[in-house]
Amino acid sequence: AGSGKFFVGGNWKCNGTKESITKLVSDLNNVKLEDDVDVVVAPPFLYIDQVKSSLAPRIEISAQNSWVSKGGAFTGEISVEQLKDIGCKWVILGHSERRHVIGEDDQFIGKKAAYALSEGLGVIACIGELLEEREAGKTFDVCFQQLKAYADAVPSWDGIVIAYEPVWAIGTGKVATPDQAQEVHAAVRDWLKKNVSPEVASKTRIIYGGSVNGGNCAELAKKEDIDGFLVGGASLKGPEFGTIVNSVT
Ligand code: PEP
Repeated sequence: AGSGKFFVGGNWKCNGTKESITKLVSDLNNVKLEDDVDVVVAPPFLYIDQVKSSLAPRIEISAQNSWVSKGGAFTGEISVEQLKDIGCKWVILGHSERRHVIGEDDQFIGKKAAYALSEGLGVIACIGELLEEREAGKTFDVCFQQLKAYADAVPSWDGIVIAYEPVWAIGTGKVATPDQAQEVHAAVRDWLKKNVSPEVASKTRIIYGGSVNGGNCAELAKKEDIDGFLVGGASLKGPEFGTIVNSVT
């Protein structure tokens, strides 16, 4: 981990019921979490209110997506204003499932980030390459192009946490090695230094996501440019998520 405050987010995705989420919240409330870590969970929209009213306030709430502009006549969408109203502090944008399953493109994601930031939400801005892109030697190109779309859209990087999530590692059990993750994190930081500013490069947290669990987090957390994690599957288990939060070094 680097010098910024360690940041661990749990992305619950489209999982859970009132009952299972009651249990998960109670497990999380019973886990001892290191003080010096920002901890955020992202429940499905439908359960945000339930989680907000029962989870210890030490853990902040994120949404998993938000609408690209002010709410209104956009059937089925959830606005940033509504997320703030219900107590969200963060939103995950550019997740690979939204890019590759739903088809959101770089520019749309950049606009979403800019709007959420303009309304005061923090943004967990995801980037990451597909397996075929990695195998074709295009990992940096893909990540930099996704970063550029954020950079072109946002007036400031305050409030942004970058999540590097190689798509081949998400939900596959195939975690990036600490060296593979560190290599991309360092390249992302260097890109920020050259294309945004040295200040933004040094203060922006770059977290890793993709099959992080209680067993592999400690080795990853030792790496200089890994400032935390975005966790999917393992965030659905309270004690294991606690282990990941407490892997801060
Ligand atoms: C994610 O979806 O952000 C993620 C990292 O998932 P998993 O931990 O399950 O690979």
